[in-house]
Amino acid sequence: MKDCIFCKIVKGEIPSKKIYEDDKILVFYDIEPKAPVHFLVIPKEHISGAGEINSENSEIVARIFEVIPKVAADLGVGSYRIVTNNGPDAGQTVFHLHFHVMGGKVLGNMA
Ligand code: AMP
Ligand code: ZN
Repeated sequence: MKDCIFCKIVKGEIPSKKIYEDDKILVFYDIEPKAPVHFLVIPKEHISGAGEINSENSEIVARIFEVIPKVAADLGVGSYRIVTNNGPDAGQTVFHLHFHVMGGKVLGNMA
């Protein structure tokens, strides 16, 4: 989608520190890490957020959740938190579905 920063990262128009890529998914480091390890997992397809997941596009979420443990293991992170913010009041600032994966320190119990 035009003017979407993560679509531009997918297309290579904006640089990113890529960790993993396949035909449907891109994983890269968050530019403002909130933990020693903080990466983002996104579908290459533009979906504006978790609130836009439906029966047509939900398969990608399973794919993403298969990729997360593999990438975390490759980075040597056994404990991590997965977060997705949906909507501005929840802190979403980039309106392209993404899952934050944070670890590398004792995070404690957020819930
Ligand atoms: P959210 O606020 O949940 O929408 O998360 C957006 C995340 O994207 C934030 O943690 C930002 O630090 C991160 N971010 C924004 N621009 C970039 C970029 N160009 N490369 C990597 N991460 C980014
Ligand atoms: Zn996008």
